[in-house]
Amino acid sequence: MVLMDGKKLAQQLETELKTQINNLREGRKPSLVVIMVGKDPSSEVYVHHKQEACARVGITSKLLEFAPDVTETTLITTIQALNADSSVDGILLQFPLPSHLNKTKMMSLVDPSKDVDGFNYQNQGLLMQNQPTIFPCTPLGVIELLKAYEIELKGKNVCIVGASNIVGKPLGMMLLNQGSSVDFCHEFTLDLASHTLRADILISAVGHQGLITKAMVKPQAVVIDIGFIKDPRSKKVFGDVDFAQVKTVASYLTPVPGGVGPMTVVMLLKNTFLLYLSHEKN
Ligand code: NAD
Repeated sequence: MVLMDGKKLAQQLETELKTQINNLREGRKPSLVVIMVGKDPSSEVYVHHKQEACARVGITSKLLEFAPDVTETTLITTIQALNADSSVDGILLQFPLPSHLNKTKMMSLVDPSKDVDGFNYQNQGLLMQNQPTIFPCTPLGVIELLKAYEIELKGKNVCIVGASNIVGKPLGMMLLNQGSSVDFCHEFTLDLASHTLRADILISAVGHQGLITKAMVKPQAVVIDIGFIKDPRSKKVFGDVDFAQVKTVASYLTPVPGGVGPMTVVMLLKNTFLLYLSHEKN
């Protein structure tokens, strides 16, 4: 079994990006604004990592923090002001949002040209039509990881367990656009194993520790674990895949941590840089 080292690949990509940003002419640097509502402990950690990563490569980042009871109007006004601010390249709305805020509505307010996460419906529509767009960071990170390990995508059976709008669905669409046949599974899928066992590439994005067992994996399949679960007591991090079991049957496997997570962060940096380049060109 080959361990797919997302941490190492992310470091390489980060170094390349840092060089590209260093080589920019004097003047404005790429910039990212992160909006965080409330004090979700996981979000605080993620945002901290994202800001540190920005600083490492020379991207200016700013965190706008709001109380959990912030009004929808305040958030809308904030997003509109950032949309109009020519010094801002990327706007990231950190999830989860408190339940009184409509996630889909808020995402749709971010200007598509600053939609660093690729969550706006316009960018998701372009992805659906296989047109150039900004791709969501986690799905893009998975595709880059598969490509770096020279995993053939064309003609392969892919099973994606977990079909959220921000991870599973866009990833499936990207793989479909690469010529894979994609089977989406979710919480209402009956006999999950009958789907997973057909997959040459099995991807899990659920958030359920140990959901994917050895008996659900086709021998020699490539297995990508997007799940990220933190045990509140031990503070240890787990994925959806039972790593100890599945490593005995898979040909390639991502660890958690150190697989998809670091790739997500570096793709955020890459997307910010791409948005910057498009703003500088216009
Ligand atoms: P989500 O809750 O929005 O979606 C979960 C999906 O899993 C849904 O489609 C649901 O129907 C499906 N599901 C739930 N229970 C299931 C079951 N028993 N069998 C099959 N499908 C089931 O979650 P999300 O935002 O898409 O995130 C999914 C996981 O990926 C989480 O663990 C999250 O922390 C992780 N994640 C990791 C990264 C990273 O960078 N590593 C980035 C984003 C999300």
